[in-house]
Amino acid sequence: MNIAVDWRAEARRVNFRKEAFIDGNFVSAASGKTFACTSPVDGAVLAQVAECDAEDVDRAVKAARKAFEAGAWAGQSPKSRKRVMLKFAELIHENANELALLETLDMGKPISAARNGDLRAVTECVRWYAEAIDKIYDEIAPAPRTALALIEREPVGVVGAVVPWNFPLLMAAWKFSPALAAGNSMVLKPAEQSPLSALRIGELAADAGIPPGVFNVVPGFGETAGQALGRHMDVDALAFTGSTEVGKFFLKYSAESNMKTVSLECGGKSPNIVFADTPDLDAAAKGAADGIFYNSGQVCDAASRLLVEDKIHDRFLSRVAEFAQAYQPADPLDEKTTMGAMVDQTQTRRVLQFISLGQQEGAKLVTGGKQVRQETGGCYIEPTIFDRVENRMTIAREEIFGPVLSTISFKTAEEAVAIANDSKYGLEANLWTNDLTRAHRIARALRAGTVTINNRDGGGIEVPFGGYKQSGFGRDKSLHAIEKYTQLKTTYISFG
Ligand code: NAD
Repeated sequence: MNIAVDWRAEARRVNFRKEAFIDGNFVSAASGKTFACTSPVDGAVLAQVAECDAEDVDRAVKAARKAFEAGAWAGQSPKSRKRVMLKFAELIHENANELALLETLDMGKPISAARNGDLRAVTECVRWYAEAIDKIYDEIAPAPRTALALIEREPVGVVGAVVPWNFPLLMAAWKFSPALAAGNSMVLKPAEQSPLSALRIGELAADAGIPPGVFNVVPGFGETAGQALGRHMDVDALAFTGSTEVGKFFLKYSAESNMKTVSLECGGKSPNIVFADTPDLDAAAKGAADGIFYNSGQVCDAASRLLVEDKIHDRFLSRVAEFAQAYQPADPLDEKTTMGAMVDQTQTRRVLQFISLGQQEGAKLVTGGKQVRQETGGCYIEPTIFDRVENRMTIAREEIFGPVLSTISFKTAEEAVAIANDSKYGLEANLWTNDLTRAHRIARALRAGTVTINNRDGGGIEVPFGGYKQSGFGRDKSLHAIEKYTQLKTTYISFG
């Protein structure tokens, strides 16, 4: 941040959008119901937000369908959609402080992470797909000289997106950017814990020139609004990010409705494997701490299982514990804060239960483990490290989605791979070693959508992201994401 911002003062001034955004207008839920949007920073109620249910979802889908059929957006040339989306990216950039503040107030992440991490990534994502869309060519298939076989990508029509609260806008942007760029209409359902930034972004999309009905936002609960979107007969594709448990519901919803395509970005229990020959053990130790404590561990590809070669185990773990000190829960509105709040009381209780289960099952608590800053009324948990974890223990198997690291020792590369793959998840794996041959061999053996070697950076918007096994299927980011929002049409023209 270049200019010092008084975030507390900004927080007092911010104007929350509270109604659903449907067909280019803010509207109340048809039932008139609202729900309290509470800040985990201090427990304050920020706003009463429209509680959409099936009727509102239907209204939004109808608006999306109408806009799609009218060709208001889908009928524009790729170059024209690009211009509008670049304007949209510009508006996000201009309003980045406000949007970052909404993220921090709504789900508790540090303002510096929201502003410098999430909002930069959101802006880049929208811009990247805007720039991409007029550079994608279709295909002509081999055919006799008397024929022409065209293979064209067409937008699927109406896309539903249901997203979580850990990176509220970014997870939404990974879906709406490629979907809109490809010409679809959208209905976005943000998580009930974090609806505020999505409502504002719907408005910015309209300000940028995205026609009414093309981008709708329906705040509400999963079992009602989320389910209604998943079961809607006129939604063509449903893109979901969230837990594996809820991801499975969407497969059922699809099967029991119109067979809409479903893509699922679900949970993880990512292994971070550190060999004794790692060239820079300090970088690896810092990577291990960042990998589990950033965003209070509320990250789908958090490096939650640390697998350390036994030779360096004690030395390495004490370095990780030192780097963990950089993450002390503090006021999320202070720019110096590196660790903010958990999203809500429910998630806080859930994480604390896992911590006590870890102790009961015999793991050794090395540091942390407690709820702190209770006097603020907010939800904060210390960075927590467990040692002597066995992969059969609950804290090694279940996605905790909190700042809790489970450390496991291994002796051989084969053992490390076996432990790493012994999980229902397969989102990401990290690997640290100086031995290039071993690194390649292990990367091939790991069942994960992303493998990073000697870093914790899985790459930017240019590379696909998504899971193996029960971490889901379909990919966000990169040109591959567009596959989820388009379908192939073959047109076979005969001259003979
Ligand atoms: P969640 O599954 O509880 O909720 C996600 C979304 O689904 C929310 O919008 C929610 O309202 C909705 N939902 C909940 N129950 C529903 C139902 N019965 N029918 C329809 N919709 C329903 O997940 P969460 O707690 O919000 O987020 C945490 C999860 O998200 C973690 O498992 C995390 O790993 C995952 N996640 C995955 C990725 C990825 O890219 N793979 C990224 C971020 C988060």
